Amino acid sequence: MPYQYEAPVSQTLFDRASLVTPGGVNSPVRAFRAVGGTPRFMVSGTGPYLTDADGREYVDLVCSWGPMILGHAHPEVIAAVREAVGRGTSFGTPGEGEVALAEEIVARVEPVEQVRLVSSGTEATMSAIRLARGFTGRAKVVKFAGCYHGHVDALLAAAGSGVATFGLPDTPGVTGAQAGDTIVLPYNDLDAVREAFAAQPGEIACVITEASPGNMGVVPPLDGFNAGLKEICAANGALYISDEVMTGFRTSKAGWFGVDGVRPDLMTFGKVMGGGFPAAAFGGRADVMAHLAPAGPVYQAGTLSGNPVATAAGLAQLRLLDDAAYAKVDAVSAEIRGLVSEALAKEGVAHTVQRASNMFSVFFTDRPVRNYEDAKQQEAFRYTAFFHSLLSQGVYLPPSAFESWFVSTAHDTQAVERIAAALPAAARAASEATA
Ligand code: PLP
Repeated sequence: MPYQYEAPVSQTLFDRASLVTPGGVNSPVRAFRAVGGTPRFMVSGTGPYLTDADGREYVDLVCSWGPMILGHAHPEVIAAVREAVGRGTSFGTPGEGEVALAEEIVARVEPVEQVRLVSSGTEATMSAIRLARGFTGRAKVVKFAGCYHGHVDALLAAAGSGVATFGLPDTPGVTGAQAGDTIVLPYNDLDAVREAFAAQPGEIACVITEASPGNMGVVPPLDGFNAGLKEICAANGALYISDEVMTGFRTSKAGWFGVDGVRPDLMTFGKVMGGGFPAAAFGGRADVMAHLAPAGPVYQAGTLSGNPVATAAGLAQLRLLDDAAYAKVDAVSAEIRGLVSEALAKEGVAHTVQRASNMFSVFFTDRPVRNYEDAKQQEAFRYTAFFHSLLSQGVYLPPSAFESWFVSTAHDTQAVERIAAALPAAARAASEATA
């Protein structure tokens, strides 16, 4: 065993979980397989802190993979949830909360003229792609290697080598037919996109991209990349789908659209807009959304879509996210990035910190990372050592070198000081790590 497990209660829970749940977790990355060791079972969260089942407190730099932008158990979000729960938890009818949340999204993100609420980011991207296919009458979908759009069958296809590689399913259970209409291209490569359109005229329904990718670590689009995608799609009668499940309402009030201003035909959202509950959405051009049932023929539905408790949480969170809140998250992100870089530099550890507004990640390489191939060149074994050193000192990082780190308005001076105190030893551990 490479690591000392000092989390006996978590270990016991993990053993129990492993008997009844595959791999002991309900979402694979939680299992710590990339870094080794015992996943910490959390029992509570307050502000920037999580407390595990062994009673140990951590500064949380994962924030539930993005949603908790106000920190854990924000009093106003909790109050809104309590109020909603008191009125009942699901009606299977329309309700005012979902109207208010849709209005908030439409008001914030100008390209969204109409929006449909769903329960997960996966559902949002799956539905957006179905709608794009229904609207255009075309089958093929372009996605980029290293971009994750949830576990939609058609999008679980990775790139082979070469340019316009037809997607091969990279998980058993996804058939060649499901992935065969997916074209996987290298990220940040507009020529590859042009070539794919030229090779398949009139066949591509849409290009889907993370607005600014965070699922291969943070790899922002090069200047003009998103605008180029939009232009190529428009010239070829395809839809440009910007997946803002991660960046939406996090990277600015209007998500990544608020940063680069490139107007997508369809957009997808999740995470922050649910306030820690299962709520997500897709929306965009009214003429495209009009094709969705019951207004149009493209079917899409959900028993818990627009759930009153989830919408109350999401709405409460969004209403608290004003300019001052984003300024605070941006500032604390800058501070932590600076501290991490300083600590690693002091130990002579090659690294590159990349960011998209307040989302950021640390790559253990001194070269810029522009796509998934670049990301894979990093010395991920150093991340493992860095991660475990911080974990043992009460700082919780994503358990993989290929993820974004997330902060919140609740990360105050005390939380930053705790991180600062833990960094020198973690940087040393990264420096001494061997493959
Ligand atoms: N799209 C992006 C960009 C994501 O980061 C994720 C999840 O991390 C998803 C879609 C899928 O969302 P969910 O996990 O809610 O299904």
